[in-house]
Formats: sequence, structure tokens, C-alpha cells
Amino acid sequence: MYDKIAEYIAAHEAEALALLRRLVEIQSGSWNKPGLDRMAVAMADVLGGILPQVRVLPYTSHGNMVQGQTLPAAAGSRGILLVGHMDTVFPADTSFTMYREDAQNCYGPGVYDMKGGLVAGVYALKALDHLGLLEKIPVTFFCNSDEEIGSPASKTWIDENAMRNTAALVLEGGGINREVVTGRKGRMGLRMTVRGQARHAAKPGPKASALLEAAHKVIALEALNNNVEITVNVGRVEGGIGPNTVPDTTTLLVDARFLSSHDQQRLEEEIRSIAARNTIPGTSCELEMISGRPAMPQSAANMKLFEVARLQAAAMGYDLPQELRFGVSDANYIADHGIPVLDGLGPVGDMDHSDQEYIVKQSVMERACLVAATLLALSATFPS
Ligand SMILES: [Zn+2]
Repeated sequence: MYDKIAEYIAAHEAEALALLRRLVEIQSGSWNKPGLDRMAVAMADVLGGILPQVRVLPYTSHGNMVQGQTLPAAAGSRGILLVGHMDTVFPADTSFTMYREDAQNCYGPGVYDMKGGLVAGVYALKALDHLGLLEKIPVTFFCNSDEEIGSPASKTWIDENAMRNTAALVLEGGGINREVVTGRKGRMGLRMTVRGQARHAAKPGPKASALLEAAHKVIALEALNNNVEITVNVGRVEGGIGPNTVPDTTTLLVDARFLSSHDQQRLEEEIRSIAARNTIPGTSCELEMISGRPAMPQSAANMKLFEVARLQAAAMGYDLPQELRFGVSDANYIADHGIPVLDGLGPVGDMDHSDQEYIVKQSVMERACLVAATLLALSATFPS
């Protein structure tokens, strides 16, 4: 069966790369609704040729999204959820718009993060469909349009549908050494607003400088960093109106990452205590959680799912490594429901979120084969 899958996918390489070009040439930054709506039409068009139930899900404040299902999945059988996002980090007016290929690589906005993954998912389904194997597998393919901004609109869909499935495969880009992702750190985005009392800077004596208090807080927050488990970064400071005025307000934007829900709790308590503790008399601080994703630990269930994929790769003649990735994705939300999830199944590449973004061309086909074989192996556990 591996040979037949590989044969079909190899025979359709040019077609798959043409689809990749088509998708990359649609500018689809997370706030670019017209571009995202065009992406949704393109994905619905492609999936419509493979899956019997495909719907564009309309959204008003965000780009439209796409849901495609096989008949068993549409009838409610618990099966496998495939997830990929259509949005990129590049704004509508970016100068990074070109798709190009050389002998080794494909380049372009979103080629790695993660239109290459969408193409790998599509060709995995196409191969199984061609071999008459897809119709019996309960598969739901979801393409969202807001992952890069924390999936505010699609989180509800993901939460509800994760629980309707027994496993999930996420098509974010693979690691540069072919790694798939078995765990991810969680993340909190926080805002600390420090308030003091403004007055003329020339006046001697104690002063309630919001900025000075914020400086103490920056040092305390940065001290929470340990080697690997926890990272804290104060990434933006805003406050003050000029050198001759004691600042009455200073805002800190903070990114905090952790490996487990236990670490998250501890970190949150420590950050709260830094917010509550004032070194400079007369100042106060308000702490807001503005975004966040739970941790995706390398659970036994995830490792079992990885083992299924690893065996498929071994049968196709190569080693499949796995990694704990520090960035977040929709896999974090899925993992939070206790559903086994494997991420990083998209093509191998690097330099995402930059205009140097690329994927290794040959890995588009390799990952399509891997996803197809893994879907097939998993389907053996869901008798129709
Ligand atoms: Zn991504």
C-alpha cells in the first residue's frame, strides 16, 4: 500500500506544486478578510473534488473558514481531525508576495507556515481517495483563518470538534531535520499597567514614578526565566511624556511560556505577586491576561500517536524524529481536551515569519505520503 500511495503522490508532484503556488499567491494575513475569503474558496474548491461534504463557514469579523468531511465523519463517527490554518503573519501591504522555486526549495509568504501543510494534507486525501480507501475513514479537515492571532474565532469550532474525534493531526511545518511535534509549550500574553502620580521632575523628594516601578517589575519578571521550562520576556514598554515629567502610567507587554499546567499555575501566581508588590510607594499595578494557549505536554497518548507515524516512516525507509516545540499552535487547544495530537506534519522548512521563509520541495510529497499512511494506519482502529 505504501508503494501505491507513494506512486500516486509522485505522479502528482507538479500538480501539487501548482496548488502550492496558487495558495501562496493569495495574500492571506490574519486581518486580510478578502484574501482569506479567497483562500477559503480555493480550499473548498480543492477539497470539494475529494470529500463529499465541504462547507465554507462564514465569519464576519474574521476570514471565512472551511470544513470538509467524509461521509462517516459527517454521520458522526469519531475519527481523525486534520487541522491547518490559511492565514499568514504578512499584512495585506507586505512586499513579500512572490512564490518561487529552485531545484531544492519553494519560497513565498506562508509556504512553510503553513500552505505547504495544507497541500500535503490535500494530496494525502487525494491519494487515499484514488485508492478507494478514503470513503470509509471518518476524517474531518478543518482550515481556519485566525491561527496566527490566537484563533479567537475558530477556537470554539476546534474545542467542539476535537472532542468528536479520537485523534488529531496538525499540518504545521515540520522541523528542519524532519521532526514532527509531540509537545508544545503553552503561552500567556499579559499586560501590566503601572500607575503613579505625575508632577514636575524638578521638584526634589520622593516621587511615585510609574516608570521606575515598572523598571523594578521588568527585572523581577525577567528573573523568572529558568533554563528551559519557563521563559518570560518583557517585549514592550510604553510610558512617560518627556524628561521633565514624572511618568504617571507605564505599560508592559509580557510573553510567558511554560511546559505544563502545573508550571502555568506557579508562573501565574509569581506574576500576580510581582504585580501586587510595589517597590515605589504611591504606585499601583493592574494585571490583565490578554491571550494564551494551554501547554501541550508530550503525553503518553501523543507519543503513542507519534509511534504510529514513526512506523509508517520506517516502512517508507526513513527515521522520523520528534521534538518539543517552543511556539504554540492549534494543537495546544486540541491537547487541552486530552485528545491525542501530532503536529508538524507539514513539509520540512525554516525561516517562518520572515521573508526568507522556505520549504524543501521534495518534503511536500514525503509529508503527503506520511499523512496518508498515518491516516490509514489510524483508521484500522475505527472499524466502519
Ligand atoms: Zn502556523
